[in-house]
Amino acid sequence: MQKLAIGSLCLALLPPGARTADPGPEASALAGYTAASAKTEQDWEAKFRAIPDPANLRSYMQRLAARPHHVGSAYDKDNAEWILARLKEWGLDAKIETYDVLFPTPKERALEMVAPTRFTAKLEEPSVAGDPTSSQHNEQLPTYNAYSIDGDVTGPLVYVNFGVPEDYEALDRMGVSVKGAIVIARYGASWRGIKPKVAAEHGAIGCLIYSDPHEDGYFRGLDYPAGPFRPKDGAQRGSVMDMPTYPGDPLTPGVGATKDARRLALSEVQTLTKIPVIPISYADAQPLLAAMEGRVAPEAWRGSLPITYRVGPGPARAHLKASFNWDTKTLYNVVARIPGATDPDEWIVRGNHHDAWVNGAQDPVSGAVALLEEARGLAGLLRQGWRPKRTIVLCFWDGEEEGLLGSTEWAEDHARELQQKAAVYINSDNNDRGYLNASGSHTLEKFINGVARDIQDPEAQVSVWKRLQFLRIANPQGNPADRQEPRNRADLRIAALGSGSDYSAFIDHLGVASLNLGFGGESEGGIYHSIYDDVAWYTKYGDPDFVYGKALAQTAGTAVMRLADAELLPYDFGDFTDTIRRYVNEVEKLAQDTREQIVEQNRRIDEGLFAAVDNPREKMLPPSKEQAPPFLNFAPLENGFAALQRAAEQYSQAATRAAAGGGAALANASLRDANAKLIAVERALTLKDGLPNRPWYQHQIYAPGFYTGYGVKTLPGVRESLEQKQWKLAEEQIGRVGKVLENAGEAIQSAAAELSRGN
Ligand SMILES: [Zn+2]
Repeated sequence: MQKLAIGSLCLALLPPGARTADPGPEASALAGYTAASAKTEQDWEAKFRAIPDPANLRSYMQRLAARPHHVGSAYDKDNAEWILARLKEWGLDAKIETYDVLFPTPKERALEMVAPTRFTAKLEEPSVAGDPTSSQHNEQLPTYNAYSIDGDVTGPLVYVNFGVPEDYEALDRMGVSVKGAIVIARYGASWRGIKPKVAAEHGAIGCLIYSDPHEDGYFRGLDYPAGPFRPKDGAQRGSVMDMPTYPGDPLTPGVGATKDARRLALSEVQTLTKIPVIPISYADAQPLLAAMEGRVAPEAWRGSLPITYRVGPGPARAHLKASFNWDTKTLYNVVARIPGATDPDEWIVRGNHHDAWVNGAQDPVSGAVALLEEARGLAGLLRQGWRPKRTIVLCFWDGEEEGLLGSTEWAEDHARELQQKAAVYINSDNNDRGYLNASGSHTLEKFINGVARDIQDPEAQVSVWKRLQFLRIANPQGNPADRQEPRNRADLRIAALGSGSDYSAFIDHLGVASLNLGFGGESEGGIYHSIYDDVAWYTKYGDPDFVYGKALAQTAGTAVMRLADAELLPYDFGDFTDTIRRYVNEVEKLAQDTREQIVEQNRRIDEGLFAAVDNPREKMLPPSKEQAPPFLNFAPLENGFAALQRAAEQYSQAATRAAAGGGAALANASLRDANAKLIAVERALTLKDGLPNRPWYQHQIYAPGFYTGYGVKTLPGVRESLEQKQWKLAEEQIGRVGKVLENAGEAIQSAAAELSRGN
């Protein structure tokens, strides 16, 4: 797309280093820099942002996505070696770090309907004309869900909608049980691994997950190759490992999967599914769904197939057989280091995975090529004399798709060093056209807003920050007051991190402040984890000109440089405290609402309301009565919050004093100690024994939901025990998390004291 606006010409005339984007309401000199060093930094950053070239991004993608490159494939290793060679050619110190992990691949996959008629599922994605790599069948992994157990089961089918816990509550009221049944769930609403987990908890013996055209097929737009959406035989591969328990190699929880690591026996592993599961296309699902009888599915459960969706059970019966080669495969992480000139023991870590399910042009190559171009840009600056203060570690992870294997094993292997040294981890994954999507630790919210103000959107003639602000004004989330917030609040809010990419080990396990960055929202499609996610698709429907790839390289690279060069690490605790206040309010409201709902529902049951209101000819069972929960004491959480808030104010005053007069005081303060104390703040948000029943997850503010998978639960210990109606546990967690907030307050206070010393 060619947009030539007068505005862009004017901006192009500004001298290098000048702010080329809208400064926004609260822009000032760079936080954590003296006036003089800010000027130098801005010059280097401007030089950096001139380097990324869309033509390079295109050629890297053509190379990396040319053939299927899943873990264990020849081309996965070949890609790692090619990336290593580029990094070395540009003069960077880089190496490959390997780990050996459990990675099952299919031996047998069979699905047939055995009653009332016979039908055999194809379980194959055909090649399509005009898409040359879609025919590389010899190298493609078949459609399957990794870490499903082996199984051979036959049973009646039950349609469970998305297969999340609420769907089973609705089935209970319909009087439908999945005990002894094979459930058929559609993709969407939760991470896929939740579906077999919840099905097994309810007694199902097998699980099919299909792609309904309502979610990513013809309901959304034209299907591939006429358009970007999923065609009828397209199926979504993917991991069903129980990642909310722990991600990474199932055999080596908590430790790096090195050659001599102690490994669990396969029978001891907690993160495999309990029942066999396979993913299927809607072409394979439709005959099964059409043969089902029983109650008509509630309206919200219906997809876009031309059938009447019914719940079952049966009379359709299915036979599902799946078995796997339970092999160990080698991971190839490529890691480059740029040593810090003055503070080599403070690390800024940046990563994107390079492995894919098949060719993976979008997931993950679109993000990996931006990281590669960033690496080339930083190498170019080094040749011109730039020397970052801190060490920069650039990581190309392997094995992300199966369960964040490469990043988790590396982070576990280097845990001690990372806990001491890692200041920030910045992740990216797939990248498309559209708006900047930044999420992560709220101690970095102000920082990433500042970076976004300095990045020009490649298609709209405003900064990526301004464009996102306008989007939030145009489409406010939630209540109408939110429309004014993006205008009035200095920083645009960033979302919290759940799971679904390589930041998890850094933030959730080690307590390293983390960000996830990417562009998206304007190039939707339905090729995720299929053989059609390839160069032909991406160069037509993804980011055909690679200009948003360039914008990602500019955004993440600027963030890395600004963190690596700052005198004082630019964490901010004002936005963080503001966000924690919202989370505390949310869990308090959740407790109150849950209580009121249970009391009201019990009353309705006593009154006989359900039996009287429901259609007597379509009997529904009333819900069962629940014990009314106790009133909970949130004082420990409020006290913890108050301590945090006081400390954040103290730090803000200390930072303002240090920045006064061009930041002269920054040069005097004992910055090494202040920075070390700042790095420790995010660690103070973790507890060694982790979350209830999942000790690997140590962060007490953010975690992926135990029943959502990707979706985040903030203050997870408190929120999830309330959602699961475990009142005693909730009370305990309120105390623990209150103490964590106090600890964080103390850590912030000691950073403030260090910063004030000598001023
Ligand atoms: Zn990915």
